[in-house]
Amino acid sequence: MTVRELAEFAISLPYPPVCALCGLDSPSPICDSCRGEMVPASMDLDAVPSDLDSILAVYAYESRARQAIRRLKYHRQTALAAPMGAEIAQLVRDNRLAPDVVVPVPIHWSRAAHRGFNQATLLCRDLPFTVQPSLLRRVRRTRSQAGLSQEDRRKNLDGAFRAQPCQGLSVLLVDDVFTSGETMRLCSQELKRAGASVVMGVVYASGRPDMDFDYEDY
Ligand SMILES: [Zn+2]
Repeated sequence: MTVRELAEFAISLPYPPVCALCGLDSPSPICDSCRGEMVPASMDLDAVPSDLDSILAVYAYESRARQAIRRLKYHRQTALAAPMGAEIAQLVRDNRLAPDVVVPVPIHWSRAAHRGFNQATLLCRDLPFTVQPSLLRRVRRTRSQAGLSQEDRRKNLDGAFRAQPCQGLSVLLVDDVFTSGETMRLCSQELKRAGASVVMGVVYASGRPDMDFDYEDY
C-alpha cells in the first residue's frame, strides 16, 4: 500500500463504526443482523478432494458470507478479517483440530503486491498455532478459475504451487472460499509430496463451483 493509499484508507474509516456489509451502525464490522442472514455450511463430503484429509467451512458461500469475502478481497475491507478470522478459529476449536502448522493458501506475489495483502493470511490471525506462509508458495500466476470446467481448473493450476520440505507435519490449510476444491486439492497434494503427514482444510465459506463467478481470483 502506498502512502497515498494509506491516507485514503484512513480517511475512509467510518466513524461512528458501521457494518462493512449493510452500512448500518454497528460496533463490529459484521452486525448481528447480517450475521443472522448467513447460512451455516453443509459440506458435501463427496466433494472433498482425495488428497485432503478433511475440510471445514463456517458458512455457505451465498448471501452475506459471499458479500463479506468479496468486500474483504476486492474492496480491501480488511476490518472484516477480524470477525471472519474469529469464526474460523472458533470452528477449528470446536472440531479440536491441533495442526503442527497453519498455512494460508498462497496467492502469487504479483497479486499480493497489487492487492496489498493475502486474504487467507489475514484469516489466520486468531488461530492459536504457528502460521508459516513460507511453507507453500504460488510459483506461477494463474487466470481466474471462474467459469472453467473441472478439467480446465486442473490444467490452469497445474504446477502452480511449490512446498518446502515438511516431513511428518500435520498442516492446516486456510482459505477464504472452497468451491470446486481444486485449489485445496493441489495445495494438499504438493504439501504431501513435500512430506506432510496430514493436510486439513478450513475456509470461511463453501459453495458449488458455479457460484464462483468472480472476475478475479488469484
Ligand atoms: Zn450489517
